[in-house]
Amino acid sequence: MVIPLDQRPRSGPYSGLNARSAKRFLTQAFTEGGLPFAEEDALELVLDATGLDRTTLMLRGTEFLAPEVFDKIKDGMARRLAGEPVDYILGWREFYGRRFVISKDVLSPRADTETLIRETLKALKHVPAPRLLDLGTGSGAIGLTLLAELPEATLVATDLSEPALNIARQNAKALNVQDRVIFAQGAWWNALDPTETFDAIVSNPPYIDAAAMTQLEPEVANYDPALALHGGEDGLRDYRAILTQAAAYLRPRGWLGLEIGFDQGESVSTLVRTAEFSNIQVHRDLGGNDRVISARKST
Ligand code: GLN
Repeated sequence: MVIPLDQRPRSGPYSGLNARSAKRFLTQAFTEGGLPFAEEDALELVLDATGLDRTTLMLRGTEFLAPEVFDKIKDGMARRLAGEPVDYILGWREFYGRRFVISKDVLSPRADTETLIRETLKALKHVPAPRLLDLGTGSGAIGLTLLAELPEATLVATDLSEPALNIARQNAKALNVQDRVIFAQGAWWNALDPTETFDAIVSNPPYIDAAAMTQLEPEVANYDPALALHGGEDGLRDYRAILTQAAAYLRPRGWLGLEIGFDQGESVSTLVRTAEFSNIQVHRDLGGNDRVISARKST
């Protein structure tokens, strides 16, 4: 018989739990709750609550849990069983090997978006001290990762949402790149000084169309902000807005990198082609889906 967590004392031998057994306990509860990644979810929650890493969990995972750790695990378990994704419970998600703070105000950065990082880094290989623009930065995952990877780069990062910018500011400090970034609030180009130009513009705009918005997984629909997901009736609204002035804000041969939905390679390429760009390329993510469009300013 498994004793429920609320019927156990919070500390000492009587709680009957250490980090390893807590992980087993959560795995079982999540499996019974029908969660597809029960063991991984359990591991992440236990590591975060105990402050252990995977190796120390193996070595030291038999020590009794402190009461506040027990409480944190209990709370995480209840929230996960209620459908909250692990990253929103933890308040952070790893992206390109670094930890980004997230909240309900930002899209949780996806592994697929690392495709945009890889392509941007290739494109900027020979550009000294590149000046970058990240439109709709959210948590800052894209722009701040580029700053961390490119020690000479500087960045303007915009967002419509002031709470999102506050999260991005926290992440800039945590990555120690705050001196190389300016944050600007506003809708797309409205946030910018019209005399600025950039070597590269990157964005992961909202791109889900109205029909697909009604079919989202509850974990996405209930936690990632709709502002970061919904790209209007046909999902292309924000690409059109970005492409009205992308070329004007780029330096000669400047580079544009946009994340796209798996089925938007053709439609977004067409929009990019009509906006003074050439060298248009579609790049796939690690799952083999079209994920990024890149292009060079024509003149
Ligand atoms: N890739 C995200 C998802 O499908 C969508 C991100 C976006 O709209 N920019 O959950």
